[in-house]
Amino acid sequence: MPPASRPTFRFAPSPTGRLHLGHALSAILNAEEAREVAGRFLLRIENTDLTRCTPENEAGIYEDLLWLGLRWEEPVRRQSEHFADYGRALEQLKAMGLIYPAFLSRGEVRRMIAEAEAAGEPWPRDPDGVPLYPGDERRMPEAERQARMNTGEPFAWRLDMQAARERIGRALSWTDTGNGPDGETGQVAADPAAWGDVVLARKEFPASYTLAVVVDDALQGITHVVRGRDLFHATAVHRLLQVLLELPEPTYHHHRLVLDDEGRKLSKSAGSPSLADLRAAGVTPHDIRTMLGL
Ligand code: GLU
Repeated sequence: MPPASRPTFRFAPSPTGRLHLGHALSAILNAEEAREVAGRFLLRIENTDLTRCTPENEAGIYEDLLWLGLRWEEPVRRQSEHFADYGRALEQLKAMGLIYPAFLSRGEVRRMIAEAEAAGEPWPRDPDGVPLYPGDERRMPEAERQARMNTGEPFAWRLDMQAARERIGRALSWTDTGNGPDGETGQVAADPAAWGDVVLARKEFPASYTLAVVVDDALQGITHVVRGRDLFHATAVHRLLQVLLELPEPTYHHHRLVLDDEGRKLSKSAGSPSLADLRAAGVTPHDIRTMLGL
């Protein structure tokens, strides 16, 4: 464990596509802040979703960051090499009685929500607009739970949000030196309940981003989490898990997002050019900084 006094930053991309300007902003801000305070700058590859992450995209991350002139400490932490760490955290939560196997398929979830909404009942949605999980397996008798898990039926380990909040028994908050979507800053009240019973792992898939990010920030001694505002509200669940797992609390800085001409967040699906595309078109690392207003 690094000494607690040394400020430690990380850039933590997922190799599900090539990096774009939004990633460049995050990476540069992290590296620069680390340099200004003589801190550490780490790179973490968030590849727990083995179905969506590719070695080509991971190689692209190193190539793009080097091209931008950034350097980080080795070794790089690759989440796919640390599933045992996330498994231990999951076991801790299981022993506390705070997670349960949820068996509804995506299709069943869609149907239940559509039926409720057809009956005139608007279904609650999380801050990203995704409907909350409609299942009630929290109350499933243990024998039935075991029997279904033993048959090989697929399931997700979900956090029992209500039980988790009751266990903590107090309001949570985090310190943000940046801004939320509505200008929130400073000591921000955390509302983890808005996310419902979040998925922490799946039967064949040992950790979700939510679980892995919290475990890794602690294991790597991250003191400052600098990342895009799209993850502002998710921080509420990260704080909840940090308290449940007795992990240290980093300071957060949620920065502006880089938007395209139509005001949309950059993404592969919206056809945003990647850093590799820009490089191929003759754009220089200096131009990238200018485009980002740095
Ligand atoms: N892996 C996440 C992403 O690429 C970022 C996680 C974080 O910075 O906490 O969106």
